[in-house]
Amino acid sequence: MPDTAAYAIPMTARFRGITVREGLLLPGPAGWGEFCPFTEYDDTESVPWLAAAVEAAQEGWPEPVRDRVPVNCIVPAVGPERAHELVVASGCATAKVKVADAPGSLGADLERVAAVRDALGPAGAVRVDANARWEVDEAVASIRELDRAAGGLQYVEQPCASVDELAAVRRRVDVRIAADESIRRAEDPLRVAVAGAADVAVLKCAPLGGVRRALAVAEACGLPCVVSSALQTSVGLAGELALAGALPELDFACGLGTGALLGADVVADPFVPGDGWLPVPRRAPEPVLRNAVAADPERARWWHERRARVSALLG
Ligand SMILES: [Mg+2]
Repeated sequence: MPDTAAYAIPMTARFRGITVREGLLLPGPAGWGEFCPFTEYDDTESVPWLAAAVEAAQEGWPEPVRDRVPVNCIVPAVGPERAHELVVASGCATAKVKVADAPGSLGADLERVAAVRDALGPAGAVRVDANARWEVDEAVASIRELDRAAGGLQYVEQPCASVDELAAVRRRVDVRIAADESIRRAEDPLRVAVAGAADVAVLKCAPLGGVRRALAVAEACGLPCVVSSALQTSVGLAGELALAGALPELDFACGLGTGALLGADVVADPFVPGDGWLPVPRRAPEPVLRNAVAADPERARWWHERRARVSALLG
């Protein structure tokens, strides 16, 4: 059995404030798992991440109900020509467009979503992600304008920060609201649903504690779900794909095309969507450890110690 390996992979662009993605690859009888809570998370918050990795390595995943999942492309805060190019090059039928990146960005956001609609054609789906940057009134006004410019939005992801604000926006616009940052713990989706704060839940199996726990969360909240990545390598993405493959209903493309944000991967054949789809794997791909971008000894020690502390909490 090969050994646990710590990796450190440079990002192709600064994302979520980080430039290097780190984590630990864990082997087991069912395959490989990836333990990669963001470095600022404390040990308690990291417990479900380890549970997800242990599930992948020791137990494997439930039977999928589909063998491939549609994936959206990501359009960062770029100009309209670049946005058009990115969408056409992706081959995806759904595009997620970042908006509200800076104060006063609405004019540029409107041009960007119009260019994305032009690139996708009328059959494509345009969604926007505000990453909690708007106040309620600004969200309502911006969503109405963006919906017009996009020729119809599929949904707006996390327009405001709090669950109460999401609910207030949702009462005032016709566009669906998706909760992302509001869902970080297993109990959050239920809270969002009960508050009437969202029409769609964005789920990630790593912070929710694995594929089975995420499926239970999806069932309990009763909302249509979209699966998104936690910026993992292809080993961790396999678990997110297993979740997307096992959800009884999957009405929307998933945010699992994030492999391109990493400057390298740990497997020979990474999960990068060429045509807007990714396969649902039965187990995580075997890391090619000589290809894994090995963490330096000091960081590797940090990750092994972190795993030992979190393991004690997981029990
Ligand atoms: Mg989001």
